[in-house]
Amino acid sequence: MTGWPAHRAPGQQVTRGDVRLVVFGSANLDTVLHVSNLPQWGHTALVDSSARVSGGKGANQAVAAARLGSPTWLFARVGDDEAGSVLARSLNDSSVRVRLTGDGSRPTGSAVVFVRKDGANAILVSPGANESADPADLLTLPDDVEVPTVLLLQLELPLATVARAMQIGHARGWHVVLNAAPADPGAETMMSAVDTVIVNEHEATLLAGVKVLDAETAQRAAIRLRTFGPARAVVTLGALGAVSSCGDQCWWATPPPVAVIDTTAAGDAFVGAFATAMLHAWSDRSALAFAVAAGALATTAAGAQPALPGLAAVTCAQAKATIRELTPRSVR
Ligand code: ADP
Repeated sequence: MTGWPAHRAPGQQVTRGDVRLVVFGSANLDTVLHVSNLPQWGHTALVDSSARVSGGKGANQAVAAARLGSPTWLFARVGDDEAGSVLARSLNDSSVRVRLTGDGSRPTGSAVVFVRKDGANAILVSPGANESADPADLLTLPDDVEVPTVLLLQLELPLATVARAMQIGHARGWHVVLNAAPADPGAETMMSAVDTVIVNEHEATLLAGVKVLDAETAQRAAIRLRTFGPARAVVTLGALGAVSSCGDQCWWATPPPVAVIDTTAAGDAFVGAFATAMLHAWSDRSALAFAVAAGALATTAAGAQPALPGLAAVTCAQAKATIRELTPRSVR
């Protein structure tokens, strides 16, 4: 990494232009359906309520980071349609600097999100224009080694596209954060260019081959993930918080108690917050507490982007998170 900033204390703002977060990922226009139960095949059910909201892991994580004060660029593809215009407007409203490239051949990506009364969700994604995302778009950013950059990627784009974007970021000396979601076993092969990998318990179980159930098994999975290449691995555990492993330190942070309404954007809030902490070069301990606080707050409101919390609320909740160091274990 080149030109990396000195450590900044949590809450200390970076000056716009000092650093930047570049998100290369998906942008969708989602339909959120609140349901009591999903119908069986061949059956019909009524929804309790519905809403249309901006989504896609790339866009959500960009908005999450921008709400926390990160100067954020989103590189994404949308269709040449009304949904694409809606997305562009909502991203601009969230202070995300966007390079949305219209794609005449495919519609804007969309997702249908089913949310149950207890906050659990099930999601169907139609990638649309996201499938034509082009990593060469990243080359339009000036190769300014004086501007420390975090590149944040997810797996909602084709694997080869993500791998190419990662290579571009790695070659430019950017700190590469991969949120390996949705789970894809092929992600293991691209880990050598990743600095920080973030996964939830299901993705960790699939990728690391360790059944993740609690903090101890999350620690084992994180250590295993690091053997694939990343210097840092983070495993999220829903209400149990998250575990990080970097160097010979492992931390476990649990969020303050919250009244859960909808867990849809919890993971995206967490990743956007953790990437923000990487941008500020915070310690892992602070980064983890900050990110679990952001994830927990995102569960207290409905939808994806509308539920993403701001800096003041997250800083306040961060102080109420519990953080403990786990007994070091060997990486190999
Ligand atoms: P994903 O949404 O990717 O499955 P998780 O469910 O692990 O990710 O959630 C990410 C983060 O959001 C957790 O680390 C935690 O901080 C927060 N979170 C998620 N669910 C809850 C919950 N029920 N109560 C409190 N915090 C939660």
